[in-house]
Amino acid sequence: MNTRETLKINARGHLEIGGADACELARRFGTPLYVFDEKHIRDMMAVYRDAIEEEYGGRGLVLYASKAFSCEAIYAIAKSERIGVDVVSGGELFTALEAGFPAEKIYMHGNNKLPYEIAEALDARVGRIVIDALSEADLIEEEAEKRGVVQGVLLRINPGVEAHTHAYVQTATPDSKFGFSVESGAAEAAASYVLSKRHLKLYGFHCHIGSQIFEKQSFVIVAEKCLKFIAAMREKFGFETEELDLGGGFGIWYSEEDPKISASDYRGYLDALFRAVKKACGGYGLKEPFILLEPGRSIVGEAGVTLYTVGAIKEIPGVRKYLAVDGGMFDNPRFCLYGSKYTAVLANRAAEKAEEIVAVAGKCCESGDLIGTAFNLPRAKTGDLLAVLSTGAYNYSMASNYNRNLIPPAVLVRGGEASYIVRPQSYRDLVRNDVIPDYLK
Ligand SMILES: *Cc1c(COP(=O)(O)O)cnc(C)c1O
Repeated sequence: MNTRETLKINARGHLEIGGADACELARRFGTPLYVFDEKHIRDMMAVYRDAIEEEYGGRGLVLYASKAFSCEAIYAIAKSERIGVDVVSGGELFTALEAGFPAEKIYMHGNNKLPYEIAEALDARVGRIVIDALSEADLIEEEAEKRGVVQGVLLRINPGVEAHTHAYVQTATPDSKFGFSVESGAAEAAASYVLSKRHLKLYGFHCHIGSQIFEKQSFVIVAEKCLKFIAAMREKFGFETEELDLGGGFGIWYSEEDPKISASDYRGYLDALFRAVKKACGGYGLKEPFILLEPGRSIVGEAGVTLYTVGAIKEIPGVRKYLAVDGGMFDNPRFCLYGSKYTAVLANRAAEKAEEIVAVAGKCCESGDLIGTAFNLPRAKTGDLLAVLSTGAYNYSMASNYNRNLIPPAVLVRGGEASYIVRPQSYRDLVRNDVIPDYLK
């Protein structure tokens, strides 16, 4: 269920992903290539679903945060695992609907939902819209009234906890473009505003405190803070919260700096979270709310691997050695954006000992176009197959056509057999929407 099962080295010394030989995949589909292990994705969805079932009496729903990796197949998998999804744009909503995903299990997010996105959400009859601005409450009210419906909504609050990796901070004066601050009273005012709307039904509250979090206590603290707020809302407005959405953010393994989290470790986080919710509800005499969780990265991150072919090799004596690959920031911008660390292996020589530290560069016209600066690898040659691990989340979904490079296709491996879930782009796709005005012809 973690990378240790998704990835193996086979008898030929090749890396296997979900039982498929990486060299065979590269031969058949070419590189660069995103490869996803279906079993890993399903197992992770089940971890969350089962925890809710077994530790919280089934009174909750996992929403896969589809911004991590959005394409029709992932919504089809989520549907077959009987979980929900969250979407953050009209484009993600459209993709989910195209895949036949049930609208009532779609939660719509975003800090600036556009009027047409709100209209699309109402037309689709999505389950909930998560309000993140008062102007959104007005827009949703207007569109719901036009249609003669009542739209279910949550309110995004900022409970004043920010969590990153191994630390969390409790911020008194939170500066964030997301949510309404509890501390400042903005959350209470927004709740009152939403409650005054006739075509909105407020089910409860949402918060999301960060990403790539390993600190169990962060989730416990945020649950406690939300329930304190929920108790205050009952006090103030007699409002009974039915749903509490605690967001995503569970961490994954990328490099030796991160712990390897097993299924039972994730279960430990969730059990602690549910205990905290029950305890706080007991303390305040609150009915235990329906709980939503929104994992993105932890569902797809370690399920994905990117395969590249090593091209130009450049050694700058006394400085560093660069391996250039046939991908780069156009398929994985995370090093450029955040300096994110990854682990790589030579997939065609996966059993060989690492001998040197190299930088892996992309093929874009930017000196910052790197996948990383410190990969520990056997001495690579042009033509070797490089696998970068844990690229399932926020890689394809952040890809671009920079330098008119083609966004790589994606394949899904099931029982060792691979099939396309995103077909390759062509040069034709690049010029499809280009127009030369007549006067330039
Ligand atoms: C990004 C995001 C998530 C998912 O976060 P992960 O770190 O990928 O689990 C969930 N909810 C909201 C509102 C988000 O913005």
